[in-house]
Amino acid sequence: MEYLVRGQFVLTMQQHLGADGIIRDGAVYVSGKNIIEVGPYKDLKAAYPTAAVIGSPRFWVMPGFVNAHQHGKGLTNFQLGGLDDCFEISRFSPEPLASIDPYIDTLYGCMRMIESGVTTCIHYNSSRGPSSYETDVRDRMRAYRDSGMRVSFGLDIRNRNHLVYGDEQFIKTLPSRLKETVVEKYSRSRTLAPDDYFSLVKKLSNDVRENGQERLKLFLTPAGPQWCTEDLLRAIRRASDERDLGLQMHVLETKYQRSYFSSVYGKTAIEWLNDLDFLTPRLTLAHGVWLNRNDIQLVANKGSALVHNPSSNLRLRSGMAPLPLFYKAGMTLAVGLDSSPLNDDSDMLQEARLSANLQRVPGAGSGLVPLKEIFRMATINGMKVLGWAEIAGALEPGKQADLILLDSRRLSAPYLAPHQNPIDALIYRGKADDVDTVMIGGELLYQGKKHIRLDRKSIHKKLKESIGPPSPRKSEGPEADLLPHLHRFFASWDQDPAVPFYKFNSVE
Ligand SMILES: [Zn+2]
Repeated sequence: MEYLVRGQFVLTMQQHLGADGIIRDGAVYVSGKNIIEVGPYKDLKAAYPTAAVIGSPRFWVMPGFVNAHQHGKGLTNFQLGGLDDCFEISRFSPEPLASIDPYIDTLYGCMRMIESGVTTCIHYNSSRGPSSYETDVRDRMRAYRDSGMRVSFGLDIRNRNHLVYGDEQFIKTLPSRLKETVVEKYSRSRTLAPDDYFSLVKKLSNDVRENGQERLKLFLTPAGPQWCTEDLLRAIRRASDERDLGLQMHVLETKYQRSYFSSVYGKTAIEWLNDLDFLTPRLTLAHGVWLNRNDIQLVANKGSALVHNPSSNLRLRSGMAPLPLFYKAGMTLAVGLDSSPLNDDSDMLQEARLSANLQRVPGAGSGLVPLKEIFRMATINGMKVLGWAEIAGALEPGKQADLILLDSRRLSAPYLAPHQNPIDALIYRGKADDVDTVMIGGELLYQGKKHIRLDRKSIHKKLKESIGPPSPRKSEGPEADLLPHLHRFFASWDQDPAVPFYKFNSVE
């Protein structure tokens, strides 16, 4: 197919074009998968008169959003009945969670991402246990293929601290009756054991290479430094180098993770990772809320990137990451929704707006990350971080056409000063709901707010049918009894003398 994708503005994200790479009354000429030319609509219409025109001056054309950290969960933890507590405690829900089929859940997640203009994401797998690991992974991969989304599919693994940070010491503090049930339920890993993991990595990377999905790349996503032994991370680094696989890992999401490293290792998690030679340009850190100044510089010097997840960090009481310091240090930055966004929705524009606003510490003197940079974080930087930048991203000739059209009526009604930059307007006023059309690799997946590949009604129906009622509450389940012990354990770490350096106001 040949398309001429037209808009009042085309936000190409090509820096060399000047004026922030924005073309007024512009168009993108797409043939097959690829962008052939970008320029003024009039010129392109004359050059390609037979191409089907999509869009009009009512629309703004831009690269698709990139959700650079998420777990492929269609239904949120809240919807499934999860506990609303801080990150470390939230998974110990006394009420059992509803069960859901992984294929349809991921497909539903893809459908929502497409509706909100996300064209590429990472899938940071959340395993349900070693026995269903491979089938779940294959089902979820199939969901991405069926949706048409571009995905960097991350295989998760963890092999220590299944309960808290420092399981042995914690278990010692439990009454003996509770100890037994807790050890029984929580001492086993929820992922594959390392040997099985690396044979699956080998099998899947061969599969992907030989008859793989064109829009899927394999990633390795170890759960986090406090959940992986040194030997495991060394082996992951080797596998990543040998098979040319990207890496993403949760790092210093919470202050307790910071306390764990300083008390057990006498160094920061970043220093610990650096000693393992794990900080490479292939690695993206998710969160990084509790990096200190030296950590930030070290990550920047090593060329590792960082995915900012502000709404997840707020919801899970993890804190606020010092975005301006990351930017100043020269880190490559992207944005992710972490499957737990602020409004239980899937809105990258809201996440960009939150990123822009949370960094606004009081005072005229504080340096900020420019809005255009935040827009890059939510689009082309994400492509870089997820390993797709050579293939798609900026709207420029030679790249595959991953683009979206936003209906500008709500954005600019009843008036928007003409000198306001459309990128700024999107960050301040844009919503996922403004997304009208989504194209990935030259294929139209969503047009006029209607899906082309997917059937919303039937996905809703199948999703509803697949939700199993929570298994009946076992009165002997350890969670309710365990919660006060968990609160006490972590609260004792609140004495960490590290003074938060990211302050909004003072109480003195
Ligand atoms: Zn996450």
